[in-house]
Amino acid sequence: MGLRGDLLASFREDSPRTASALRDFVHSVRKRATVPVLGIGIGCKGVIDAATTRVNRLPGDLHFLEGSKLCDLVAVDGLPVCADNDARTALVAEVLWGSARGRRNVVLLTLGTGVGGAVLADGVILRGASGAACHLGHVTLDIRGGLCICGNYGCLETCFSSRAIESAYFAHIHRASETRLSLDDAGGVPTAEAIFQTAAEGDPSARRVLDLAFESLTAALVSFVNVFDPELIILGGNIAAAGPQLLAPVQDEVARRTAVLLDRKVPIVLQNNVGYGGVAGAAGLVFLQQQLLTI
Ligand SMILES: [Zn+2]
Repeated sequence: MGLRGDLLASFREDSPRTASALRDFVHSVRKRATVPVLGIGIGCKGVIDAATTRVNRLPGDLHFLEGSKLCDLVAVDGLPVCADNDARTALVAEVLWGSARGRRNVVLLTLGTGVGGAVLADGVILRGASGAACHLGHVTLDIRGGLCICGNYGCLETCFSSRAIESAYFAHIHRASETRLSLDDAGGVPTAEAIFQTAAEGDPSARRVLDLAFESLTAALVSFVNVFDPELIILGGNIAAAGPQLLAPVQDEVARRTAVLLDRKVPIVLQNNVGYGGVAGAAGLVFLQQQLLTI
């Protein structure tokens, strides 16, 4: 990434399964760089201590990184290494180069397999005492809900995420409700993308699943508006790519439910840099650290 948020080159590889695979990838990118490199930025899910680059908590496929300091792991040629949660790096990208430019209070949600969150409050990106602040996907929405990956029950992520949508649709198939999609030959569940599509075409089960999911997302956004009083809400991640279908049911209802306290409508927009927003913001961390850019 360049200072203007321009993507200079991109290299893609499957998520590493070992620390050495991650190190090898970073080193190979360093070797292939054709412009001067100022530093290495990493956006990663989980709880990252941005001050030390230590991965404090990282459940799931990348669990092997838990406890590691990324600056030690990927150090190359004495370059500085910056790291933060990937939703936060997505927010950094939006603040530096995207729709949140010049704003002081912004809430960002990444809607994908899980739900990530990041908040700019009074011009400061909230990190909390240990880097765990603003895991907005883990606010409780359903006090009688299912167990979440985080150990809590009924989190937003268990109600509105691609996995939650796919699970809910699977339950309709399993109950032999009217569905237009079925399991594939290997027993695989339809993807969230396919469920959005079939809902638009009139699948009653898909419609019901999405109605309930959007109800949850709306309730969460109302809470975030009341807690953070943002100028702007940004929705990113794979599900956000559904675009207008995602925003239309949400925007008006959030405005209606927050009108008494707020007396203004908070715009809800899609992330500018869908696809590489988190990556751009990881580079932004380096530029901020070196005071080449400021928020
Ligand atoms: Zn949770």
